[in-house]
Amino acid sequence: MSMSDTQNNPSLETIISLAKRRGFVFPGSEIYGGLAGTYDYGPLGVALKNNIKNMWWRMFVELRDDMYGVDAAILMNSKVWEASGHIAGFSDPLIECEKCKHRFRADQVQTKPKKDESGIVLENEEVWICEHCGTKNEMAEPRQFNMMFKTRAGASEDAPAVYLRPETAGGIFMNYKNIIDSVHPKLPFGIAQIGKAFRNEIAPRDFIFRLRELEQMEVEYFIKQEEWERAFEQWRVLMHEYAQAIGIKGSALHELEILPEDRAHYSERTIDFEFDYPFGRKELWGLAYRTDFDLSAHEKGSGVELKYLDEATKEKFTPHVIEPSLGVDRTVLAVLLSAYRKDDLGGGERTYLAFSPALAPVKAMVSPLLKNKPELVEKAREVYTVLKKDVPQIMWDDNGNIGKRYRRQDEIGTPFCITIDFDTLGEKPELKDTVTLRQRDTAVQTRMSITEAILSVRESIRGIPLT
Ligand code: ATP
Repeated sequence: MSMSDTQNNPSLETIISLAKRRGFVFPGSEIYGGLAGTYDYGPLGVALKNNIKNMWWRMFVELRDDMYGVDAAILMNSKVWEASGHIAGFSDPLIECEKCKHRFRADQVQTKPKKDESGIVLENEEVWICEHCGTKNEMAEPRQFNMMFKTRAGASEDAPAVYLRPETAGGIFMNYKNIIDSVHPKLPFGIAQIGKAFRNEIAPRDFIFRLRELEQMEVEYFIKQEEWERAFEQWRVLMHEYAQAIGIKGSALHELEILPEDRAHYSERTIDFEFDYPFGRKELWGLAYRTDFDLSAHEKGSGVELKYLDEATKEKFTPHVIEPSLGVDRTVLAVLLSAYRKDDLGGGERTYLAFSPALAPVKAMVSPLLKNKPELVEKAREVYTVLKKDVPQIMWDDNGNIGKRYRRQDEIGTPFCITIDFDTLGEKPELKDTVTLRQRDTAVQTRMSITEAILSVRESIRGIPLT
């Protein structure tokens, strides 16, 4: 536990260490010293991440009648990125420390007023401090650094350059015409995609907050121009509903209206949804009105018409677009931070993750009170097998004493523990075929029939998308 922890506000180090210890998230290529900006998800991390993505897919796609999913190739013809403006404009301003040569984003360095030799502050002049070696550097014109990863499609030296996509949106726009031609949707409609994106960030940092390989959940929602404000509002509200569904408290989420000069080149309005991370209030998700920028640019770039024909009015036009864009990894981090709790239980301090059953990587743990009593183990296995058929995310644990098992499950956010004891076997005849069901948050154990216990677990996740 870190010194800066408070009851329900863990430090980043606490979350990093819990994530590693319990198999949520590991540093990428760790035994070789790692690779900056990459992390690997372990068994519990994959389950949590899948639950987060499934919940998004359920709310943003399946529960609506106007949404279509795609899974586009990560590698695309470079003309996609030429037309979208990413080759020319997807860059960050970069400055380099004169001494250690480390590079930083010019808009993120710490600056100080400049002083002359006698220590007098010079008006309107500043220096910037190198975070790595502490050198005070003269302010310099930043260089533009393109953030796209470049590679070649083909074995020969002159094979065409391709880029790893920096956002999933490109693949969505590439399928606009395919969806129109194959599904014939009526406007407004949207296309959704979940997938990896790559950004050669100058300074990856803050665990899974700023990565070079990341995952996004994005929607392009196609509308008539005059509908943009209504559609923007609709998605804004849905993003709040999603935040609530995954346990991100409204009080930790803040909307920031991005000023025109700070917006991406394609956007007429952008709201950042910011979250209170331990390292400050930072962007979690974005919502942008991309106008008809992309479809117009791709129509021009490809020479293929990308208009929409309104059958009723025979009107032909280029749809405008609203784009909710959610980073999966930043969401995982916000979910972990939001779920973290500490309390006192039976005189001892306990740590638990208060995941909703929907998100919990393990929905229930089934265990025999004692490991060395074959009749207990057999009965517990029966319960485990029945439950696991219905609810895949079930864990078996018979290691150590039962109190320790409960604590281990608390720490990974398992909402229920079912324990099979001698009463289950009929030691007290009136309790035969009953078990205890322990609730994580209250630690209260209730005796009930096996059927009731199984139903309680099932009921808690009814209607929830399971992996
Ligand atoms: P930032 O200003 O923090 O660099 P951005 O404004 O460039 O982010 P967008 O282009 O709006 O981010 O990307 C959409 C979403 O993708 C973000 O809201 C975030 O959730 C996620 N995202 C973007 N860059 C990264 C990254 N390097 N690592 C992890 N997630 C990211």
